[in-house]
Amino acid sequence: MRFGNERESSNFDDVTGQSGGFGGGGLGGGGLGCLLPLVASRFGIGGVIVLVIGYFILSSLGGINSGGGGLAPASQQASQSGQSNLDPMIKHFSLQVLASTEDVWTALLSKKGIQYTPTRLEFYSGSYGSGCGAAQSAMGPFYCPTDKKIYLDTQFFNELAQRFQAPGDFAMAYVIAHEVGHHVQDLTGTLGQAEQLQARESGTQANATQVKIELQADCYAGVWAANAKNPEGQSVMEPGDFEEGMRAAEAIGDDTLQKETQGRVVPDSFTHGTSAQRMNALQTGFKSGNPDACASL
Ligand SMILES: [Zn+2]
Repeated sequence: MRFGNERESSNFDDVTGQSGGFGGGGLGGGGLGCLLPLVASRFGIGGVIVLVIGYFILSSLGGINSGGGGLAPASQQASQSGQSNLDPMIKHFSLQVLASTEDVWTALLSKKGIQYTPTRLEFYSGSYGSGCGAAQSAMGPFYCPTDKKIYLDTQFFNELAQRFQAPGDFAMAYVIAHEVGHHVQDLTGTLGQAEQLQARESGTQANATQVKIELQADCYAGVWAANAKNPEGQSVMEPGDFEEGMRAAEAIGDDTLQKETQGRVVPDSFTHGTSAQRMNALQTGFKSGNPDACASL
């Protein structure tokens, strides 16, 4: 991506040096709300328990928390010392992406008469308390509608590059833009509608609704990318960027993840869509640059 001196967003907290007190995989009791992770868990619905399963999936892929993730140990040591372990380059890039999403969505939503109030990016490390229960790095990044914040352990970017074989700056930007997409859904009322639908639906139907929500967030990530400009009005996308995003979308499709973790694919349990669907959604958003092109509920 072609970011230069673009501004950083100030809507963030770096709590990577703080322990949330949720170590050991503990769940945060009730009131999880409808938590929206980037990567499928098998309980996307009705507000439940992404944590254990997300933990299971990713730890069976090699374990972020177990220290098998390659780049983790140094940062985890820093975390225990109480200091930020956020990589300055990653932080800078993430906040430029976040600022860009603010500009793009402010403009796009104002056309619909909706005021864009920014989400807040919480950089944490290992585990931390969120408005949706305990955030665990093994869950992958997620959006919490209860406190309207994005929770990101940037260790996930290493996972993306190494374990998911999807390196590159736009792959990272896609992750953030997807979560911002959930915030947009929150602002437009789509998340609320989905929650109402899911309350009446069976497990399979509720999963299908969840898939639509996730694919729309992927599509919104593409819409952001299509509209992301530097101050001179040029696209920040460079040749090869979009392909990086497509590789990431492919790697985190439900069918691909299930094949890796369970050895078989169970379509009724999908919560995020297949690799092909996720790639198609990202592409639809990117090609159109228009949120109306993204399929709704
Ligand atoms: Zn999502």
